[in-house]
Amino acid sequence: MAAQPLDDLVWDNSFTRALPADPISANRVRQVFDAAYSRVTPATTEAPELVATSAEMLDLLGLDPNVGASEAFVRAVSGNEPIEGSDPYAMCYGGHQFGNWAGQLGDGRAINLGEVVTKRSGRQALQFKGAGPTPYSRGADGLAVLRSSVREFLCSEAMHHLGVPSTRALSVALTGDKVMRDMFYDGRPALEPGAVVCRSAPSFIRFGNFEIFASRKDIANLRRLADYTITTYFPELLDAEHLTIAPANYVDWFAEVARLSADMIVHWQRVGFVHGVMNTDNMSIHGLTIDYGPYGWLDNYDPNWTPNTTDASRKRYRFSAQPQIGAWNLERLANALFPLVNEVDPLTDALNTYVTRFNEKWPQMMADKLGIVGFAPVTDRSLIDDLLELLVGAETDMTLFFRGLADVDTESATVTDDELLSPFLEAFYVREQLSGDHRDGWLNWLQRYRQRIAYSGQADLQRRATMNAVNPKYVLRNYLAQLAIDDAEKGNFELIKQILEVLRKPYDDQPPHNRFAAKRPDWARSRPGCSMLSCSS
Ligand code: AMP
Ligand code: MG
Repeated sequence: MAAQPLDDLVWDNSFTRALPADPISANRVRQVFDAAYSRVTPATTEAPELVATSAEMLDLLGLDPNVGASEAFVRAVSGNEPIEGSDPYAMCYGGHQFGNWAGQLGDGRAINLGEVVTKRSGRQALQFKGAGPTPYSRGADGLAVLRSSVREFLCSEAMHHLGVPSTRALSVALTGDKVMRDMFYDGRPALEPGAVVCRSAPSFIRFGNFEIFASRKDIANLRRLADYTITTYFPELLDAEHLTIAPANYVDWFAEVARLSADMIVHWQRVGFVHGVMNTDNMSIHGLTIDYGPYGWLDNYDPNWTPNTTDASRKRYRFSAQPQIGAWNLERLANALFPLVNEVDPLTDALNTYVTRFNEKWPQMMADKLGIVGFAPVTDRSLIDDLLELLVGAETDMTLFFRGLADVDTESATVTDDELLSPFLEAFYVREQLSGDHRDGWLNWLQRYRQRIAYSGQADLQRRATMNAVNPKYVLRNYLAQLAIDDAEKGNFELIKQILEVLRKPYDDQPPHNRFAAKRPDWARSRPGCSMLSCSS
């Protein structure tokens, strides 16, 4: 056989090696007991076609940068060609969905290939999303459509470049098959182009992998999975002298997951990302953003916003609720791990590390966004709280506001009101709303801000540089992703590539690409895909 483009990958499939496999090999929908996964084969498709690849991911995996041009590559990353060394399987997991225990869920449309050992990034599990049915597909088809696959591909990479912990994406490919979806859940299903994303992460283990064993009182497998996870991914928590894992190790590991989750959510709040479906089956045990479905980015700063139409009435997963939901989800994980610890207090203490960490990191993150040096929680906190109140007082673009704030003059002794406001006028969706009391509120806040900056004596030039390193100029605005999807559905993938390119340096000014920093245009205010998304993908 001719050399295949992925032949050079070095596989070490520890998950399938260490954990129990489903003894039944039939690929039909069912409850799977006593097993962490079921072996499955990706489906072959009509006419695979590459849409885009991530150069950084090719590099990270040690692949040739031009590999994407080959026919064999697209066949491999769309599941059409078995990859030497891989051992494809779907994971069994459960989860709490929208606050309720949902029982077995599992990889209904994800197929793991195994783990590649990379030189720079250690173990990287590769996974197809949309490559066909598995025993966990329940009533669905195991497939994914182009629109949701482009969104997953672009956002995974955008998050990485923004410094937000995330699963990654190597490629997105059309399958050549059509997939039926009722996008608006209004009884008007239509055929859409099918696609497969090849994604990557140290592992795709979720809180729900532990919950399913705990719910079935399968403590032996719960322990096996926890031991595997700790020894493979958190070995630094183990004492080299003691080979067996003690209850305290489970607690330490849980505290580490709590810490990683807190840090991830602080990043989400920093960049204005709303996950949309923070169910426990969508929570990575590595504290990585995982499962890009009906996610969205805040355009105007609105703490109550969620893009997910399925959650429109309760808004359980709205922007401002993400921190509390993180704690709620961790509590579910703590409950699942309880049989390994058998003591409440240590787990409660570990859970509190989430709250402590978040309460420490979030204000500091906000202070960094404001460019405040020597942040003092007691005296500076009101500057943050009052700002967040002003931001909701009129529709104000979050991303443009923080970039603009960096340009506010805090050095000149006298500046006019108009001069003070001008750097972020662009952030207002309805300019007339910046009038009367609201305008006075801003001017008052800006004077306090100037005094605070002057107090620690940093120069505007310096402040601007540090603020622009934490306040991105470019994020994957919902309407931008939709424009790229509109083109892709017509067979033009250029905009996907352009957006990916700009988002590689989201903190750089990149003046030729200013149009990708523009606030949401009026046409996108209520267009599906731009401000409202369903789980139908
Ligand atoms: P999500 O909240 O979108 O991450 O998915 C929740 C559950 O539904 C997971 O178990 C998915 O694998 C499953 N699922 C979502 N879409 C499909 C699909 N098209 N076919 C099979 N399973 C699916
Ligand atoms: Mg999911």
